[in-house]
Amino acid sequence: MSETINQAARKGFLVDTSRCIGCRSCQVACKQWNKLEADKTSNKGTFENPRDLTPALYNRIKFIEKDTAGEVTWRFFNERCMHCGDAGCMKVCPSPGALFRTKDGIVGFNKEKCISCKYCVSACPFNIPRYGSDDKVSKCNLCLDRIAGGLTPACAKACPTEALKYGMRNDIISKAKGAKKTIYGEDALNGLGVAYALEGPPEQYGLPANPSIPMSIFLWKDVIKPLGILGFWGSIGAMLLHYVTIGPKKVDDDLNVKENGHE
Ligand code: SF4
Ligand code: SF4
Ligand code: SF4
Repeated sequence: MSETINQAARKGFLVDTSRCIGCRSCQVACKQWNKLEADKTSNKGTFENPRDLTPALYNRIKFIEKDTAGEVTWRFFNERCMHCGDAGCMKVCPSPGALFRTKDGIVGFNKEKCISCKYCVSACPFNIPRYGSDDKVSKCNLCLDRIAGGLTPACAKACPTEALKYGMRNDIISKAKGAKKTIYGEDALNGLGVAYALEGPPEQYGLPANPSIPMSIFLWKDVIKPLGILGFWGSIGAMLLHYVTIGPKKVDDDLNVKENGHE
Protein backbone atom coordinates (compact mmCIF):
# COMPACT_ATOMS: atom_id res chain seq x y z
CA MET A 1 0.00 0.00 0.00
CA SER A 2 1.32 3.49 -0.93
CA GLU A 3 2.03 6.05 1.75
CA THR A 4 -0.44 8.97 1.82
CA ILE A 5 1.40 12.11 0.84
CA ASN A 6 0.21 15.66 0.24
CA GLN A 7 1.30 16.10 -3.38
CA ALA A 8 0.42 19.81 -3.44
CA ALA A 9 2.84 20.54 -0.57
CA ARG A 10 5.78 18.63 -1.98
CA LYS A 11 9.05 20.41 -2.63
CA GLY A 12 11.60 18.90 -4.94
CA PHE A 13 14.04 19.11 -7.79
CA LEU A 14 13.94 18.81 -11.50
CA VAL A 15 17.36 17.77 -12.78
CA ASP A 16 17.66 18.90 -16.39
CA THR A 17 20.45 16.77 -17.84
CA SER A 18 20.65 18.92 -21.01
CA ARG A 19 21.82 21.87 -18.88
CA CYS A 20 24.48 20.08 -16.84
CA ILE A 21 28.08 20.92 -17.78
CA GLY A 22 29.73 18.50 -15.34
CA CYS A 23 31.35 21.25 -13.25
CA ARG A 24 30.54 19.41 -9.96
CA SER A 25 29.87 22.58 -7.99
CA CYS A 26 26.87 20.64 -6.65
CA GLN A 27 29.15 17.95 -5.17
CA VAL A 28 31.40 20.53 -3.52
CA ALA A 29 28.55 22.70 -2.17
CA CYS A 30 26.89 19.68 -0.60
CA LYS A 31 30.09 18.61 1.13
CA GLN A 32 30.68 22.13 2.37
CA TRP A 33 27.16 22.69 3.74
CA ASN A 34 26.81 19.24 5.29
CA LYS A 35 30.40 19.25 6.62
CA LEU A 36 31.25 16.00 4.84
CA GLU A 37 34.83 14.78 4.68
CA ALA A 38 36.75 14.59 1.40
CA ASP A 39 36.80 11.13 -0.16
CA LYS A 40 40.17 9.63 -1.07
CA THR A 41 40.03 8.66 -4.75
CA SER A 42 42.38 7.42 -7.44
CA ASN A 43 42.60 8.03 -11.18
CA LYS A 44 40.93 5.22 -13.09
CA GLY A 45 41.33 6.78 -16.54
CA THR A 46 38.14 8.83 -16.48
CA PHE A 47 37.19 12.36 -15.44
CA GLU A 48 34.40 10.97 -13.26
CA ASN A 49 35.37 11.43 -9.63
CA PRO A 50 34.37 9.91 -7.24
CA ARG A 51 33.03 6.90 -9.12
CA ASP A 52 30.26 6.10 -6.66
CA LEU A 53 28.23 7.70 -3.90
CA THR A 54 29.86 7.35 -0.50
CA PRO A 55 28.74 7.97 3.09
CA ALA A 56 30.35 11.42 2.69
CA LEU A 57 29.08 12.14 -0.82
CA TYR A 58 25.33 12.74 -1.03
CA ASN A 59 25.27 13.69 -4.72
CA ARG A 60 27.68 13.14 -7.53
CA ILE A 61 27.98 13.64 -11.25
CA LYS A 62 28.10 10.47 -13.23
CA PHE A 63 30.04 10.86 -16.49
CA ILE A 64 28.45 8.81 -19.26
CA GLU A 65 31.13 8.61 -21.95
CA LYS A 66 30.33 7.75 -25.53
CA ASP A 67 32.79 7.14 -28.36
CA THR A 68 31.22 8.45 -31.57
CA ALA A 69 33.50 7.83 -34.58
CA GLY A 70 36.64 8.34 -32.50
CA GLU A 71 35.29 11.41 -30.71
CA VAL A 72 34.41 11.14 -27.02
CA THR A 73 31.22 12.86 -25.90
CA TRP A 74 29.72 13.02 -22.43
CA ARG A 75 26.38 13.12 -20.79
CA PHE A 76 26.26 14.15 -17.16
CA PHE A 77 23.88 12.72 -14.62
CA ASN A 78 23.35 13.99 -11.08
CA GLU A 79 22.95 10.91 -8.89
CA ARG A 80 21.30 11.26 -5.46
CA CYS A 81 18.35 10.17 -3.32
CA MET A 82 15.11 10.64 -5.30
CA HIS A 83 12.91 11.30 -2.23
CA CYS A 84 10.38 8.78 -3.57
CA GLY A 85 6.69 9.37 -2.81
CA ASP A 86 6.55 5.66 -2.05
CA ALA A 87 9.92 5.14 -0.39
CA GLY A 88 11.15 1.54 -0.07
CA CYS A 89 13.73 2.62 2.51
CA MET A 90 11.04 3.99 4.84
CA LYS A 91 8.74 1.04 4.24
CA VAL A 92 11.26 -1.50 5.45
CA CYS A 93 13.00 0.44 8.22
CA PRO A 94 12.17 -1.17 11.60
CA SER A 95 13.39 1.76 13.72
CA PRO A 96 10.76 4.53 13.96
CA GLY A 97 12.21 7.94 13.05
CA ALA A 98 15.46 6.66 11.54
CA LEU A 99 14.02 7.52 8.12
CA PHE A 100 11.13 9.96 8.09
CA ARG A 101 8.97 12.09 5.81
CA THR A 102 8.75 15.86 6.34
CA LYS A 103 5.66 17.96 5.58
CA ASP A 104 7.47 19.08 2.40
CA GLY A 105 7.62 15.44 1.23
CA ILE A 106 11.36 15.06 1.86
CA VAL A 107 12.78 11.74 3.09
CA GLY A 108 15.13 12.68 5.93
CA PHE A 109 17.25 10.50 8.20
CA ASN A 110 18.32 10.52 11.83
CA LYS A 111 21.59 8.69 12.48
CA GLU A 112 20.86 8.49 16.21
CA LYS A 113 17.82 6.31 15.54
CA CYS A 114 19.48 4.16 12.85
CA ILE A 115 20.14 0.65 14.22
CA SER A 116 22.55 -0.30 11.36
CA CYS A 117 20.35 -3.12 10.04
CA LYS A 118 20.89 -1.90 6.42
CA TYR A 119 17.44 -3.07 5.30
CA CYS A 120 17.01 0.29 3.51
CA VAL A 121 19.89 -0.59 1.18
CA SER A 122 18.10 -3.60 -0.27
CA ALA A 123 14.74 -1.77 -0.38
CA CYS A 124 15.95 1.22 -2.41
CA PRO A 125 15.26 0.84 -6.15
CA PHE A 126 18.10 3.29 -6.93
CA ASN A 127 20.93 1.93 -4.73
CA ILE A 128 21.28 5.15 -2.74
CA PRO A 129 21.77 4.67 1.04
CA ARG A 130 25.40 4.33 2.14
CA TYR A 131 26.94 3.28 5.45
CA GLY A 132 30.26 4.61 6.75
CA SER A 133 32.61 3.82 9.61
CA ASP A 134 29.87 4.91 12.04
CA ASP A 135 27.66 2.14 10.52
CA LYS A 136 24.74 4.59 10.20
CA VAL A 137 22.66 5.52 7.16
CA SER A 138 23.76 8.44 4.92
CA LYS A 139 22.11 10.02 1.90
CA CYS A 140 20.88 13.36 0.52
CA ASN A 141 18.31 14.90 2.89
CA LEU A 142 17.45 17.68 0.42
CA CYS A 143 19.13 20.13 2.81
CA LEU A 144 16.02 20.06 4.99
CA ASP A 145 17.72 22.39 7.47
CA ARG A 146 18.22 25.01 4.72
CA ILE A 147 14.67 24.51 3.44
CA ALA A 148 13.29 24.99 6.97
CA GLY A 149 15.08 28.36 7.00
CA GLY A 150 13.63 29.36 3.61
CA LEU A 151 16.90 28.72 1.75
CA THR A 152 17.53 26.82 -1.47
CA PRO A 153 19.40 23.49 -1.07
CA ALA A 154 23.15 24.03 -1.32
CA CYS A 155 23.67 22.07 -4.56
CA ALA A 156 20.92 23.94 -6.44
CA LYS A 157 22.20 27.26 -5.11
CA ALA A 158 25.69 26.48 -6.41
CA CYS A 159 24.65 25.18 -9.83
CA PRO A 160 25.67 27.80 -12.44
CA THR A 161 23.39 26.57 -15.24
CA GLU A 162 20.10 25.89 -13.44
CA ALA A 163 20.45 22.22 -14.25
CA LEU A 164 19.13 21.70 -10.70
CA LYS A 165 15.79 23.44 -10.38
CA TYR A 166 14.38 23.49 -6.87
CA GLY A 167 10.84 24.51 -5.93
CA MET A 168 7.29 23.25 -5.52
CA ARG A 169 7.36 19.88 -7.22
CA ASN A 170 4.14 20.30 -9.20
CA ASP A 171 5.23 23.72 -10.56
CA ILE A 172 8.68 22.69 -11.74
CA ILE A 173 7.35 19.56 -13.43
CA SER A 174 4.54 21.51 -15.17
CA LYS A 175 7.05 24.06 -16.47
CA ALA A 176 9.36 21.33 -17.77
CA LYS A 177 6.46 19.59 -19.50
CA GLY A 178 5.45 22.93 -21.03
CA ALA A 179 8.98 23.13 -22.45
CA LYS A 180 8.40 19.65 -24.01
CA LYS A 181 10.95 17.89 -21.78
CA THR A 182 10.71 14.13 -21.26
CA ILE A 183 10.17 13.65 -17.55
CA TYR A 184 11.41 10.66 -15.57
CA GLY A 185 9.75 10.13 -12.19
CA GLU A 186 6.58 12.18 -12.50
CA ASP A 187 4.32 9.30 -11.43
CA ALA A 188 6.68 6.42 -10.64
CA LEU A 189 6.71 5.38 -6.96
CA ASN A 190 3.96 7.88 -6.13
CA GLY A 191 6.12 10.56 -7.78
CA LEU A 192 9.84 11.09 -7.26
CA GLY A 193 10.73 14.19 -5.24
CA VAL A 194 13.75 14.47 -7.54
CA ALA A 195 12.48 14.08 -11.11
CA TYR A 196 14.63 14.25 -14.23
CA ALA A 197 14.39 15.78 -17.70
CA LEU A 198 16.37 13.24 -19.72
CA GLU A 199 17.79 13.41 -23.24
CA GLY A 200 17.50 9.69 -23.87
CA PRO A 201 16.02 6.49 -22.46
CA PRO A 202 16.44 6.08 -18.67
CA GLU A 203 18.63 3.01 -19.14
CA GLN A 204 21.30 5.21 -20.76
CA TYR A 205 21.63 6.98 -17.43
CA GLY A 206 21.63 3.76 -15.41
CA LEU A 207 18.03 4.29 -14.27
CA PRO A 208 15.42 1.50 -14.20
CA ALA A 209 12.72 2.13 -16.86
CA ASN A 210 9.97 1.22 -14.38
CA PRO A 211 11.35 1.63 -10.86
CA SER A 212 9.67 -0.46 -8.20
CA ILE A 213 10.26 -1.60 -4.65
CA PRO A 214 11.50 -5.23 -4.55
CA MET A 215 8.63 -7.70 -3.88
CA SER A 216 10.61 -9.24 -1.02
CA ILE A 217 10.08 -5.96 0.87
CA PHE A 218 6.30 -6.35 0.72
CA LEU A 219 6.71 -9.93 1.90
CA TRP A 220 8.78 -8.67 4.84
CA LYS A 221 6.58 -5.72 5.73
CA ASP A 222 3.10 -7.04 5.00
CA VAL A 223 3.48 -10.77 5.84
CA ILE A 224 6.60 -11.82 7.78
CA LYS A 225 6.84 -8.78 10.10
CA PRO A 226 3.12 -8.86 11.16
CA LEU A 227 3.39 -12.65 11.64
CA GLY A 228 6.50 -12.13 13.78
CA ILE A 229 4.64 -9.58 15.92
CA LEU A 230 1.64 -11.93 16.12
CA GLY A 231 3.99 -14.74 17.15
CA PHE A 232 5.54 -12.57 19.88
CA TRP A 233 2.20 -11.52 21.39
CA GLY A 234 0.93 -15.08 20.90
CA SER A 235 3.79 -16.39 23.10
CA ILE A 236 3.05 -13.75 25.77
CA GLY A 237 -0.65 -14.70 25.65
CA ALA A 238 0.19 -18.42 25.96
CA MET A 239 2.41 -17.73 29.00
CA LEU A 240 -0.34 -15.69 30.69
CA LEU A 241 -2.90 -18.40 29.94
CA HIS A 242 -0.56 -21.02 31.42
CA TYR A 243 -0.07 -18.87 34.54
CA VAL A 244 -3.82 -18.31 35.02
CA THR A 245 -4.92 -21.92 34.36
CA ILE A 246 -2.02 -23.96 35.80
CA GLY A 247 -0.26 -21.46 38.05
CA PRO A 248 3.40 -20.48 38.52
CA LYS A 249 6.18 -22.98 37.90
CA LYS A 250 7.13 -24.75 41.12
CA VAL A 251 10.76 -25.24 42.08
CA ASP A 252 11.73 -28.90 42.16
CA ASP A 253 13.07 -29.19 45.73
CA ASP A 254 14.84 -32.52 45.10
CA LEU A 255 16.63 -31.10 42.05
CA ASN A 256 17.52 -27.96 44.01
CA VAL A 257 19.13 -30.08 46.69
CA LYS A 258 21.12 -32.17 44.16
CA GLU A 259 22.37 -29.13 42.23
CA ASN A 260 23.39 -27.08 45.26
CA GLY A 261 24.79 -30.03 47.20
CA HIS A 262 22.97 -29.25 50.47
CA GLU A 263 19.59 -29.94 52.10
S1 SF4 B 1 15.82 6.88 -3.53
FE1 SF4 B 1 16.12 5.18 -2.15
S2 SF4 B 1 16.89 6.15 -0.29
FE2 SF4 B 1 15.93 7.76 -1.51
S3 SF4 B 1 13.78 7.87 -0.80
FE3 SF4 B 1 13.83 6.48 -2.56
S4 SF4 B 1 14.05 4.47 -1.59
FE4 SF4 B 1 14.66 5.95 -0.07
S1 SF4 C 1 19.98 18.83 -1.52
FE1 SF4 C 1 21.55 19.28 0.03
S2 SF4 C 1 22.03 17.26 0.93
FE2 SF4 C 1 21.00 16.90 -1.05
S3 SF4 C 1 22.64 16.73 -2.54
FE3 SF4 C 1 21.95 18.87 -2.56
S4 SF4 C 1 23.34 19.88 -1.12
FE4 SF4 C 1 23.51 17.68 -0.72
S1 SF4 D 1 26.49 22.23 -10.42
FE1 SF4 D 1 24.90 22.04 -12.01
S2 SF4 D 1 26.00 22.12 -13.96
FE2 SF4 D 1 27.53 21.74 -12.38
S3 SF4 D 1 27.70 19.50 -12.32
FE3 SF4 D 1 26.18 20.06 -10.77
S4 SF4 D 1 24.22 19.89 -11.82
FE4 SF4 D 1 25.80 19.97 -13.43
